[in-house]
Amino acid sequence: MRMPTLFVGHGTPMNAILDNEWTHAFKGLSALIPKPKTILSVSGHFYVPGIYVTDNVAPPTIHDFGGFPQALFDIEYRCPGSPELAARVSDILDGHAQLTDKWGLDHGTWSVLLHMYPQADIPTVQLSIDQRLEAEVHVAIGRALAPLRDEGVLILGTGNITHNMRVGFWSQREGVVPDWSSRFDSLVADATARHDADELARLANSQAGEEAHSGFDHYFPLLYVAGAANDDDPVSYPITGFDRAFSMRSVKFG
Ligand code: ZN
Repeated sequence: MRMPTLFVGHGTPMNAILDNEWTHAFKGLSALIPKPKTILSVSGHFYVPGIYVTDNVAPPTIHDFGGFPQALFDIEYRCPGSPELAARVSDILDGHAQLTDKWGLDHGTWSVLLHMYPQADIPTVQLSIDQRLEAEVHVAIGRALAPLRDEGVLILGTGNITHNMRVGFWSQREGVVPDWSSRFDSLVADATARHDADELARLANSQAGEEAHSGFDHYFPLLYVAGAANDDDPVSYPITGFDRAFSMRSVKFG
């Protein structure tokens, strides 16, 4: 069975411990897809100069944020890793990726997975986003990873379709969606509905993209998910809407 590919807008780290419309929706995502054998997560928080794949047997929970309540730092999401999947990814990427145990699961991954799979029983590997690469190369890497879908692997992207940190998150008014955010979210929805991953890459280099992002770390995970999709995959949006300025849209192919 071919696994779908899934992009999730994770929003604030607080979603790990909050009980709100987003966390309810995260909990519902697992019912929409077959249970994966393993998960390959591409998180906007593993944005580094280089392509790395985590091969830890027991990946540590990384608390990669500051200024949040202690309850967030106390979270440990103890799912297993999968050195086998890490080796397979490294194989597919043909020498361009390095295995590492210097990373684990960052909050882009665990703040979503602890709602989707609270039992933490699915082995999970993270693939970094090489910050030196152009948008279209991230699409190409996603395309190369597509065969994993036939091996029970859920290719998960976790970021946000609009994420402009020049605009302070908490300074935004609740219920007020700025034009730059709704505009870019619509452009992305149109391109995903057409399976146009190349257009998604072009959008990163557009004026609208520049307005919607202060860096593309939270957008690029979508390019992997769209790159690994087929033209005949049904496209759906299990979560839509905005948390203050930021799009919380999730995209599922297949
Ligand atoms: Zn984030």
